[in-house]
Amino acid sequence: MTRVLDKIYLDNNAATPLDAQVLDAMLPFFREDYGNASSLHSFGRSARKAVEKARADVALFIGAAFPEEIVFTSGGTEADNLALAGVLGASKDKRRHIITSQIEHRAILNTCEFLEQNDAAKVTYLPVDRYGAVDIDGLRKAIKEETALISIMYANNEVGTLEPVGPAAEIAGENGIIFHTDAVQAAGKIALDVRKERVDLASLSAHKIYGPKGVGALYIKKGVNIKPIMHGGHQEKGMRSGTENVAGIAGFGKACQIARKRLNEDMSHMAKLSDKLLEFITSRIDGAVLNGHPAERLINTLNVGFRGIDSESLIMNLDLCGIAASSGSACASGSMDPSHVLKAMGVEPSVAAGSLRFSLGRHNTAGDIERTCDVLLDTVRRLRDLRFSSGRPVPSRTVK
Ligand code: PLP
Repeated sequence: MTRVLDKIYLDNNAATPLDAQVLDAMLPFFREDYGNASSLHSFGRSARKAVEKARADVALFIGAAFPEEIVFTSGGTEADNLALAGVLGASKDKRRHIITSQIEHRAILNTCEFLEQNDAAKVTYLPVDRYGAVDIDGLRKAIKEETALISIMYANNEVGTLEPVGPAAEIAGENGIIFHTDAVQAAGKIALDVRKERVDLASLSAHKIYGPKGVGALYIKKGVNIKPIMHGGHQEKGMRSGTENVAGIAGFGKACQIARKRLNEDMSHMAKLSDKLLEFITSRIDGAVLNGHPAERLINTLNVGFRGIDSESLIMNLDLCGIAASSGSACASGSMDPSHVLKAMGVEPSVAAGSLRFSLGRHNTAGDIERTCDVLLDTVRRLRDLRFSSGRPVPSRTVK
C-alpha cells in the first residue's frame, strides 16, 4: 500500500487500501489478458481460468464446500439484493415473509422497503439490545408459517457488534427457513465458516478486505434455490448475467487468499491497536462512551460517543489534522442523519450526535494511534471550549 504521507486512515470499514499484491494480480487483466471470460479462444480461456481460480479462493476463505457455491456480483449491495429478492423469487407456496434486524446495512433495509412497497414481501425488523445484538428469543417469536427468509448481519458496520449468527441459522434450519447473513464487515476480521455456522447465503465485498471496489459475491449453499435478479447472457451459470469483471474478480480472489493467510496476524495486530485507543479515550476523555458490545465486537471497530460535541465538527477537525474517521455508515453518502443503528440501540441522542467510528486496518501502526490520541484529546477539548464560550450546553465533566 502507498501511504499518504502524514495522513492516518482509520476508516477501514468504509473501504480498505488496495493491497499491492492484489493490484499485481489485477493488472494483467487490464493489459494483455483482456479477453472475455466467455470466449473460447486463448484470451477468453485465460480470463476464465482467473475467474475460476478466484472462485476457489473465495470459497476456501469462507469455508464453502464447493467453488460453484460462489456467485460473483458487483459488490455487497448487489449480493444482498440477490439474496433477498432471489429467495422471494424462488419461494414456492407464496411464502413472502422476511425477518431481519433494525440495524442492518441500508443494502438490506432499503431492499426490504422496496420489496414491501411492491407488495412482494412483508418484513419484520427485529429490535436489538443496548449493545446492538439481536435477541434470539425475539427471532423465534417472529417466525410465521409464511417466513421464507431470515437475514441477520454477521457483524454491524457501525458499532462492530457480532450478531448471534450460528444460533439464528440453527433456528432457521429447524423451521425450514433460508438463512442469509451479510458478512461484508466480518470478512477478514474474524474467521468465517459458512458450513460450521449453517448459513445458506452470505454476502461479501472485496473492498472491505484490501481488494478492489465494485466486486463482491453471494455464497449460495448447494441445493438452496434462488432466482436471479439480473437477466442477460447467462454468466455465473445464469445466476448473475453480465460480462464478468475479470480484473476485479482476480483481485478479490487474491485478497481472500491473503486475508486467509494473515487472519490471525491481522486480528491480533488490530486488537492491540484498538485496545490501546479505547483505553486512552475512556481514561483520558470524560463523557466518552463506547457504543457497541464491549467484547463481542469486531476487533477493529470502535464507535465512541463524545457528549457535547457534534460528530461532523469532530470529523472535519480530525481531517484537518490528517486523521480520517467517520460518523458511522460511510455508504450513506455523507448523510448526517442520526444513525439508525445507534437509535435502535437506544443510545442517548446527545451521545449519538457526537459519535465517531474509528475502524482500524492491517496497515495502521502504533504511531498512528499515538498521534490520534494526542489530536483527539486536543480537538475534543477545543470543540467543547468553543461550545462553552458560545453559551451552548456542555457536558458536566470536561476533558481530562
Ligand atoms: N453490507 C455491509 C455490512 C456494509 O458495511 C457494506 C458497505 O459498507 C455493504 C453491505 C455494501 O457493500 P458494497 O459497498 O460492496 O456494495
